[in-house]
Amino acid sequence: MTLSPPRGSDLTAEATAVLAAAAADRATVVLSGHVQPDADALGSTLALAEGLRRRGARVLPTFPEPFTLPASLAWLPGADALVPSSEVPASPDVFVSLDAASPARLGELAPLLQRAGTSVVVDHHASNPGFGRVRVVDPAAPATVTLVADLLDGLGVQLDRRLATCLYAGLAADTGSFRFGSTRPDTHELAARLLATGIDHAAISRRLFDTAPFSWLGLLSVVAGRATLEPDVGAGLVWTWSSTAEAAEHGLPGEQLEALVDVVRATQEADVACVLKGQDDGSWSVSLRSRGATDVARVAAALGGGGHSAAAGFTSDRDREGTVAALRSLLGGPAIMVS
Ligand code: AMP
Ligand code: MN
Ligand code: MN
Repeated sequence: MTLSPPRGSDLTAEATAVLAAAAADRATVVLSGHVQPDADALGSTLALAEGLRRRGARVLPTFPEPFTLPASLAWLPGADALVPSSEVPASPDVFVSLDAASPARLGELAPLLQRAGTSVVVDHHASNPGFGRVRVVDPAAPATVTLVADLLDGLGVQLDRRLATCLYAGLAADTGSFRFGSTRPDTHELAARLLATGIDHAAISRRLFDTAPFSWLGLLSVVAGRATLEPDVGAGLVWTWSSTAEAAEHGLPGEQLEALVDVVRATQEADVACVLKGQDDGSWSVSLRSRGATDVARVAAALGGGGHSAAAGFTSDRDREGTVAALRSLLGGPAIMVS
């Protein structure tokens, strides 16, 4: 028997009821995306917070330490009202987790899953193990913002430019501007609804994807120049590395390391692209991308991380060669190929 995937409305019905009741009671709702939030995590948090605020809830949108946003996201409407995690109540009426694949991705906010009156988890990661009391987890959703749009519809919140800007940022980011396989007909239908509110989608995309200091070109040339192609590892591996210290040598903040993988993953000879990003504490934050033959979410999960089949990540405390060696041995195994 084949089960059809849940329709958005079935999946969101219980969460909508919980959130609508909380708003009607003027309850306190803490909302958080994952650590080092991206456009989907932050857009989801800000849009749902604004929608719940309009319905009467006392909302506290936040995200885990470090409490700094990259310039590419700090302009999102409502970002100026984000509250540091140290200032949110430890036991709010409701805690909403957005775009976090696991409790660990919520950092110091993870205890709120237990300590809040109730918890709602809104996510689209295939690696999500199932946590929180009310779960809106749909691995077929191309972005968490699509689930938030369903929740806002259920709450009777009208989409306007402010909400649509947050939702579009997450949608464009997680679909690779509608290029990735996760894009479905209803993805474009949502995009059409968002554009119909009058958002400046070209400006949103330029700020998110096409804006970097000139010195980023210098960093890119170094990082691209040291890339290694290993065609015999799995379906082919291309990897390179950089670090927050190297970014600093180019006068750049660490956030400028994030876009490097989007260049590296164009490598035709390698199904898997990997960028190791050295952090200030000596650990490696590792980004994995697949061109389609390899399930990198399973690779990342085996190394303590998670993600989607085509885009995943993990953190490694091994040294650089040890981290790549662990990756090589997993990619060489048979279990991670997309069937
Ligand atoms: P990134 O390479 O950081 O852009 O992440 C790609 C995907 O993998 C995103 O969906 C992330 O949420 C997920 N991801 C990255 N790092 C981790 C991690 N340490 N644990 C779980 N998921 C992760
Ligand atoms: Mn994310
Ligand atoms: Mn996402």
